[in-house]
Amino acid sequence: MDRPLLNRRLAEFGTTIFAEMSALAVRTGSINLGQGFPDADGPEEVREAAVRALRDGRGNQYPPGPGIPELRTAVAAHQERFYGHRGLSYDPDTEVLVTAGATEAIAATLLALLEPDDEVIALEPYYDSYAACIAMAGARRVPVTLRPDPEAGSYRLDLDELRDAVTDRTRLLLLNTPHNPTGTVLSAGELAEIARLAVERDLLVVTDEVYEHLVFEGEHLPLASFPGMRERTVTISSAGKTFSFTGWKVGWVTAPAELVTAVRAAKQFLTYVSAGPFQYAVAEALALPDSYYSGLREDLRTKRDVLARGLSDAGFRVYAPSGTYFITTDIRPLGHDDGFAFCRALPERAGVVAIPNAVFYDHKDEGAPYVRFAFCKGVDVLREAADRLQKL
Ligand code: PMP
Ligand code: GLN
Repeated sequence: MDRPLLNRRLAEFGTTIFAEMSALAVRTGSINLGQGFPDADGPEEVREAAVRALRDGRGNQYPPGPGIPELRTAVAAHQERFYGHRGLSYDPDTEVLVTAGATEAIAATLLALLEPDDEVIALEPYYDSYAACIAMAGARRVPVTLRPDPEAGSYRLDLDELRDAVTDRTRLLLLNTPHNPTGTVLSAGELAEIARLAVERDLLVVTDEVYEHLVFEGEHLPLASFPGMRERTVTISSAGKTFSFTGWKVGWVTAPAELVTAVRAAKQFLTYVSAGPFQYAVAEALALPDSYYSGLREDLRTKRDVLARGLSDAGFRVYAPSGTYFITTDIRPLGHDDGFAFCRALPERAGVVAIPNAVFYDHKDEGAPYVRFAFCKGVDVLREAADRLQKL
């Protein structure tokens, strides 16, 4: 057999960096600040809600394809509660779809909406599954690069570049705010411009908002709440980051009925359904009081500050994030410019694992000297990691 087994659409994608780096952390006994998962589970009452559902026999057999009504209702109520003041609301029966995490929502949405050779604009650096799903759909990705501004200590979107990237073949904008890995939160002005562009060029928009409750400065503004956007936008979120249960893989899509129907057409042949008992628990979690959500944000903000200080003291240039779980750093002040080599050597040198941002780029050179650290860990763990990094 001289033909490669892995098809040409997927040939460029090896093992995800998250699996590689988590395995490296286990093998070397390092502190894992690579893959973004909390080192403590979410609320006890939510865990108990899952146990109760399992014991009571709720969700142990195939749940309904669109998701259990309780969860769809809870998702709709969540959108109304947090974004209703911006005019956003969804019908739980026709405009909400439960998925196997945001990951399946992204896959199903792209597989449903794209024809081969359609162009998809995504903000680079981009979350790794975007490129793979665009490729599986046979479409073409067109990256628009977020660039670091060392003066401001943050990343910026060049709106002219975004505008110039749109062609007659562009079908869809794939956005992510708060943004993994840079921690950028798009501003109201930027979102308004993006909305204008999408309306003017009649584009579909898919917006990955899994870090919606982890905005440390300002507030989360769903793109769907901007003028002309609701009708063309698929909004994706999930329980993983909001409730600190990344292993449960309960996600959801909110969009107008025609878009949800299209996404469901693909989703039904991916997993059909998943996570039955966890759907009941997440329905309860979404109804937690505002104090839960603000507590989560405060907790992560503190952790961000602890790690940012430690990294800065260790000699990294720190791009302090306005949201997410992640801090991007520039390793050049430490005398390095290859993030891959740096991350592969870091366990040996300091007993810490991080992620080279270059994996999130098509323009590898743009991402080469940047390394991402996750701060969704206990404060003691972050302090210990920071101590270890001081010797670099
Ligand atoms: N999108 C982004 C930007 C992410 O960082 C992640 C990882 N949490 C996902 C999607 C996948 O989310 P889930 O675990 O719910 O599939
Ligand atoms: N979203 C997580 C991160 O960026 C990882 C999820 C995964 O392992 N696929 O670290």
